[in-house]
Amino acid sequence: MDRDGTLILDKNYLSHVEDIEYFPDTLKALEIFQDLGFELFVVTNQSGVGRGYFSLESVYVIHRQLQNDLREFKLQPFKDFAICPHGPDDKCQCRKPSGQMIQDLIAKYHISPKHSYMLGDKLIDAQSGQNAGIQGILVRHQQQSEFPFFKTLLDFAHHLKSRP
Ligand SMILES: [Mg+2]
Ligand SMILES: [Zn+2]
Repeated sequence: MDRDGTLILDKNYLSHVEDIEYFPDTLKALEIFQDLGFELFVVTNQSGVGRGYFSLESVYVIHRQLQNDLREFKLQPFKDFAICPHGPDDKCQCRKPSGQMIQDLIAKYHISPKHSYMLGDKLIDAQSGQNAGIQGILVRHQQQSEFPFFKTLLDFAHHLKSRP
């Protein structure tokens, strides 16, 4: 799943742990995903690094805090984080909508693409899933597209739970 705007509020170049703010439904949704047997990964573009706004280390600090928060809520921590630290003009291979970061996770953890989803608030998130061969899902922020849309992460969790 995407990080900013999906898991936590998009604070526009978040770099301080004090500014981490979860959506009210996030942790409940993660709990349902894990109860359903999903492993959770974060796939995030952090161009603030490439733009020189903050260091990669400060991204790691944020992610360590997320892991602590999940543990505190009795959840499994995220299995891994994939980070693109590049700017849009860097012509890197990893920045979403590229599927590269997801493909790397699929290979590294032997993930079944057929049984996986990429969740995000932007079209580029869903497209990155599609580009990696997994189903892209839009949450929280609707953009006109061919991808399924759910108002919240929890709505999608309930949808998965209610499947036969
Ligand atoms: Mg986002
Ligand atoms: Zn990149």
